[in-house]
Amino acid sequence: MSDDAIRCDACPVLCFIKPGRVGACDRYANHNGQIVRVDPHLILDQTLSAGGAVVPFLNRGREWDGSIASGPETFVTAIGAGTTYPDYKPAPFIISSEVDGVDMVTVVTEGIFSYCGVKVKIDTDRHLGPERNLVRSHGEPVGHVTTGEYGSQMLSLGGVQHLTGGTKSEGNVTCETLLHLCNGRPVELTIDEGAKVVVQAGKPPVVNDVLEERMRVGCGSATIGMFAKQWLGKVDDVVVVDDHITGVLSEHQAGKLLGIPDTGIKLKGRRSTPGRYFRVADPGTAWGGTNITDPLSILGEFNPKSAWSGLRLLMVSTTGEHYAYFELDSSLRPVEQDLPVALRESVARIKENCEPALSTVLFMGGAGGSLRAGVTENPVKLTRSVKDALTRITCGGAPVYVWPGGGITFMVDVTRMPENAFGYVPTPALVAPIEFTLKLSDYAALGGYVDSVRTLRSIMNDDSRRHVQARADNPWPLGTSDSSRPRQ
Ligand code: SF4
Repeated sequence: MSDDAIRCDACPVLCFIKPGRVGACDRYANHNGQIVRVDPHLILDQTLSAGGAVVPFLNRGREWDGSIASGPETFVTAIGAGTTYPDYKPAPFIISSEVDGVDMVTVVTEGIFSYCGVKVKIDTDRHLGPERNLVRSHGEPVGHVTTGEYGSQMLSLGGVQHLTGGTKSEGNVTCETLLHLCNGRPVELTIDEGAKVVVQAGKPPVVNDVLEERMRVGCGSATIGMFAKQWLGKVDDVVVVDDHITGVLSEHQAGKLLGIPDTGIKLKGRRSTPGRYFRVADPGTAWGGTNITDPLSILGEFNPKSAWSGLRLLMVSTTGEHYAYFELDSSLRPVEQDLPVALRESVARIKENCEPALSTVLFMGGAGGSLRAGVTENPVKLTRSVKDALTRITCGGAPVYVWPGGGITFMVDVTRMPENAFGYVPTPALVAPIEFTLKLSDYAALGGYVDSVRTLRSIMNDDSRRHVQARADNPWPLGTSDSSRPRQ
């Protein structure tokens, strides 16, 4: 190649990079004729105590006794470690350590994940869009709405189909969307026949330009059950409006047990069980995740055999954000009145019991055959070792959940990882740090690259490594106690 450009072989793109320039992913550069990883390689330091000072590495280095292993208070992450491609070559770093007298190794690599995505949990009652509908970023389909959960709506974004199975633009936008979400940046998403939502890991969602403040206390039925006693004697009936399960106090088992009499109230929608109604309205972003702005629109006429003039009715949403109080006139028509002082506390209590709304982003990826080949010459043995809990997986030192079944499919909460832990390559695919930690003897038994094991000290003369304090709420990746062991 002319112009002294040299080839980077860390991914299938195989960029030729001129001196002083970076490759297509901005991760590798040509520095004085050598391909170097641009970002610093991250090392985690465990603090002496919660909130205590970080132990400077160099001080510990001077105390090093010359054994093959370093102490257990430093952990080499894969962030900035680099990638080897193709992966039959050993991973970039295979580092020895000694933990409680046991020789351990940590194999670290920045894995290239073509099979990956994120699961996004958005705490909101508001209807974001019909299940299965496409989620778009910059107009490109990047995922879909999946099942709603208790107080939250779930999106499944990315995955190999969007990354590789559509147009080039779809793949690139999907990759960029995943990268931003995983690195904790805000992303605006639109849902077909639904809402516009801005999602950022660990931050409240913004739905249709409105910042979401709280998630529901429970479904309408659960809310009736929780607060029935507090309403006793202060109101004759309560309707908790919910897009999924609207609750009616006088019909609900909670009301029956408290001796609350029939009020002749009539709900629209489908009665599931006493005091629990489905589909009282269409989904939306108003009362209780429905499309209604007038709560009376979900009521039929009161039955004159049971209802009475002056009957007191509270209608409230599952977050307490919407509420209205009515009394029946002589024609048994509800007339809105100011909320009585006696009921203000219960409405405030519903709000108080609603947790702050957040967006949660879990990265999910599959450590494929090629990535595993960078750990051992016999990749299936690594999979078995993970299943047998002999090998611990972490992502940038953060604990992961490994799915049961075949392969190594794992999930990690991106907010538990160091910042900017993710990268990308324009194949397109996401680059995520992954570390495998296991006993040195087990590593040898599964066909690991024992000849490539290095001490921590041997890599520490390089200024490109950056020490950061480990998060106190993460289990220490080299810990041996049950409490420090990540759940996998
Ligand atoms: S995209 Fe990045 S990793 Fe891939 S070859 Fe180019 S510089 Fe190297």
